[in-house]
Amino acid sequence: MDGQEIAEKRKRVLMIGTGGTIASELTDDGLAPGLTTEQLLKRAPGIGAFCRADCVQLFALDSTNMTPAHWQGIVRCIRENYDRYDGFVITHGTDTLAYTAAALSYMIQDSPKPIVLTGAQKPIGFDSTDSKENLSDAFCCASGDFPGVSIVFDHKIILGTRAKKTHSKSYSAFSSINYPELGVVRDGLALRFIRQECGAAPAFCEELDTKVALVKLTPGMGRELLDFLFARNDALVIESFGVGGVPETGGFYECLASWKTLGKIVVLTTQVENEGSDLAVYHVGHRLKNDLGVLEAYDMTTEAVLAKLMWILAGTRDPEEVARRFYTPVAMDMFPHRDGR
Ligand code: ASP
Repeated sequence: MDGQEIAEKRKRVLMIGTGGTIASELTDDGLAPGLTTEQLLKRAPGIGAFCRADCVQLFALDSTNMTPAHWQGIVRCIRENYDRYDGFVITHGTDTLAYTAAALSYMIQDSPKPIVLTGAQKPIGFDSTDSKENLSDAFCCASGDFPGVSIVFDHKIILGTRAKKTHSKSYSAFSSINYPELGVVRDGLALRFIRQECGAAPAFCEELDTKVALVKLTPGMGRELLDFLFARNDALVIESFGVGGVPETGGFYECLASWKTLGKIVVLTTQVENEGSDLAVYHVGHRLKNDLGVLEAYDMTTEAVLAKLMWILAGTRDPEEVARRFYTPVAMDMFPHRDGR
């Protein structure tokens, strides 16, 4: 095989740039995305060993500015290019990367091709940076047998529905929550522990109902904030304490009961990072589930709960069907529970 033939046999990967620290430069007002996706790709070392890469610049955003409309733009870009490439690398700011990864996991299901998100804690132009290794590792996975949506960061490969940003500064920014890492990448070699299930072809869905809100309970807060959010949204995710519940005073139970009657969807989750909810355990949670029929997140991340609700509510508003879809695992976002049967 000559050099030309070897080159043709390499996988084709499309890099989709969206901004983030990885593409940022120092300005007088702090870091801001400044490098084009092409400049970023040129600075990524050793990628030619894995694949032939093309790139497209979708956005140049600090991911703080990302919205569901940007998720839809990413999905559209992948759908339009799906047949032409063997894998995709999305460079993204780390701050909302876990939300995007969760959203893409519902909006592109069963993908047999890798869709890999990465970013960095330090810009690629800095002397000390994690950008180059993260990029190289992401291309390694996008050229390999890693179906579905994942995050590759600090040598870890994390399932898209299970990622959470757990460090704001150190290179090990992401953790896999309530699920093992899919694998690791070392010195240009990916070691896979778990292969994500996939279909023969991806199922794309671009519609989202973005009227899904999240509120974090704090000791002593009243129901007013919940009422405010219910009035403006179709679903409310409540991050409560421990395994889950709401205060027994202050009218919380009545608040949830009345908004549920009006067809609003309520999901209880926990502020605790690991091990998830179990509303049945305490009196403060038990009757929410038994009498009111609120949904609970169990072992799902809050990022996944929000994205899943946006995806479900775009397709149905029937409460029973919402519950059925919510408890049906997608991309291993939750372990199967009795509620799902
Ligand atoms: N603020 C940046 C962003 O999310 C942080 C980063 O990329 O690490 O775009």
